[in-house]
Amino acid sequence: MKAPALPAAFGFLASARPGGGRVPDAVFATRGSRTDMDTPLRAQSLTATLVHAPGVRPDAAQAQDTDTAVLLAGEFYNRAALRSVLPPGTEPDSDAQLLLQLLHRYGLHAFRLLNGRFAAMVSLGHRVLLATDHAGSVPLYTCAAPGEVRASTEAKTLAAHRDPRGFPLADARRVAGLTGIYQVPAGAVMDIDLASGKATTHRTWTPPLARRIMPEDEAVAAVRTALDQAVAARVPSGSTPLVVLSGGIDSSGVAACAHRAAGTLDTVSMGTDTSNEFAQARAVVDHLRTGHQEVMIPTADLLAQLPYAVWAAESMDPDIIEYLLPLVALYRALDGSARRILTGYGADIPLAGMHREDRLPNLDTAVAYDMATFDGLNEMSPVLSALGGHWTTHPYWDRDLLDLLVSLEAGLKRRHGQDKWVLRAALADALPEETTRRPKLGVHEGSGTTSSFSRMLTEHGVAEQAIPEAKRQVVRKLFGLTVADGRHPSEVSTDEVAQSVADRFAQGAA
Ligand code: AMP
Ligand code: MG
Repeated sequence: MKAPALPAAFGFLASARPGGGRVPDAVFATRGSRTDMDTPLRAQSLTATLVHAPGVRPDAAQAQDTDTAVLLAGEFYNRAALRSVLPPGTEPDSDAQLLLQLLHRYGLHAFRLLNGRFAAMVSLGHRVLLATDHAGSVPLYTCAAPGEVRASTEAKTLAAHRDPRGFPLADARRVAGLTGIYQVPAGAVMDIDLASGKATTHRTWTPPLARRIMPEDEAVAAVRTALDQAVAARVPSGSTPLVVLSGGIDSSGVAACAHRAAGTLDTVSMGTDTSNEFAQARAVVDHLRTGHQEVMIPTADLLAQLPYAVWAAESMDPDIIEYLLPLVALYRALDGSARRILTGYGADIPLAGMHREDRLPNLDTAVAYDMATFDGLNEMSPVLSALGGHWTTHPYWDRDLLDLLVSLEAGLKRRHGQDKWVLRAALADALPEETTRRPKLGVHEGSGTTSSFSRMLTEHGVAEQAIPEAKRQVVRKLFGLTVADGRHPSEVSTDEVAQSVADRFAQGAA
């Protein structure tokens, strides 16, 4: 099986029930083609609408035999290892087929083997399995009741039809603002009995809690090897990958490895009229000789896209939305056909890169805290880029690389007065020195998003000290309009929402 250029499906809305039926019409934030599928089994039918890149064969997202049907959004990165445990002669020709074979061999424990970026739904006898990858990087939501389990990669498609009335599900996360809808935890498989709607949740991954002591050179070599492998697994042969490049160490490292794996590379950087990191990205572009594009987005346009960011991320967290907004704007500005995009997202979490201090106990506390609380934020959601029809993947959150990075003792992360030291050292021979030495700048800082969002609220009359609360209310309102009420973001005005929040503050009602 050759690694496909894009996954067979970006997302789905599906329903499992005895006797079958139809899935309701759905509006996805994911842009692409839609294909309906109906898989009748002995005890139940699995019916689905898949969203996928135009020209991609969506039937590869589904696999079945008499008693089992598999639906898969996303892809696996350890295919060779997975195939090696199957009986000789089994030649799965898609990731969904591979998962079907693994389910025969391991039952639901198959999900413990997968290193991937995916959400899966499996009809199995009288049961339904709902599974996420280790990072929950493809959000998966469900609304279940005795006799029917619905699941979707976008909560809004379930919110549009509150039927069945969702029963409480053990160990799943309630979605604030969406009664009856639950989010499958990261690194988990929920095993639901179709007749009773009762669920048991099994963890398939958990962040390492122990820390490993390694000599400098060994740690540096291990990080480089794991990063090279994580990137190579995300670069199908014969294609030109695209890296969203800030010019910071994280995305520049991915760019260097991707260039090595593919022999060719495209890069793109975004900035606003207020602020950009174009010069820093240019140093990497010149070094690697990539096909490069700079995208300038006026600040007013950026803020006008807040409804799209909330619609795609389905998050009510104002810090997350503010962080995601510039990337959403970038993905939407990339025209042309569907691309596979690699990001430098997430290296700061296992390496505590945001943590600018030398005390190791505090550093490791930050790692432990962030690794225990990332779930449910949807920062890695593929829908962010799928708004523009593109597929993203995040090498630093590759399961095996992440296991390594988290587990390194804190002194390898902060060393010689540098943050993310082990990563900087691992990339020393692949990048210009100015790049490996550059301090961290988050995209919301580098693009000026945080300050622009604050300024907009000030201009609407919100007092300085009320800005954090006003941002929270703006985002909550946008969530209500676009996700809960199903309004298309093109019909929602950031300015009007900001004004209504400012008015409530002025009346002292907030
Ligand atoms: P950061 O906030 O820098 O950790 O951003 C996460 C990832 O988003 C980076 O590693 C890049 O892949 C991408 N990114 C951040 N800023 C930009 C930018 N200005 N242009 C293009 N991509 C960016
Ligand atoms: Mg950065």
